Amino acid sequence: MNKRLTIALVAHDQRKADMVEWAVFNADMLSQHQLVCTGTTGSLIQQAFAEKDIHAEVICMHSGPLGGDAEIAAMVVRHEINLAVFLIDDLNPQPHEADIQMLLRQCRVHNVPIACNRYSADLMITSGLWDVEHYTPSTPRYIKFERA
Ligand code: PGA
Repeated sequence: MNKRLTIALVAHDQRKADMVEWAVFNADMLSQHQLVCTGTTGSLIQQAFAEKDIHAEVICMHSGPLGGDAEIAAMVVRHEINLAVFLIDDLNPQPHEADIQMLLRQCRVHNVPIACNRYSADLMITSGLWDVEHYTPSTPRYIKFERA
């Protein structure tokens, strides 16, 4: 593995245990990259890694409801995020729904892979494509419709 990625990790409260378990399980891979997290998600991952003596660069942004998702969305816009794992609580309303949709939308717009469940996350991080020198993700093209 040659390429050092910046991977965004965000989990809603009901999904944090899942995220921490997933991060610890995949610590060998994740510790070779930079992890950018929303505040509470990042703190829990840091704590779990420290308990298991796992060394990784974990950067914590603001907590999600206080703007963390928006900060990560801005990084996506600036092409500073390579992959994202976003474990959304689909069973409870969130106060920052607008920011959640913004993060999802900016990942779609900028062609950033984003996994919203663990199976997708496992498929994504085990793909070799992000580590293959001759694979370049396509640039999204948007057709502009103009009035005749
Ligand atoms: P948190 O934010 O990690 O600070 O809880 C996650 C979110 O709610 O988007």
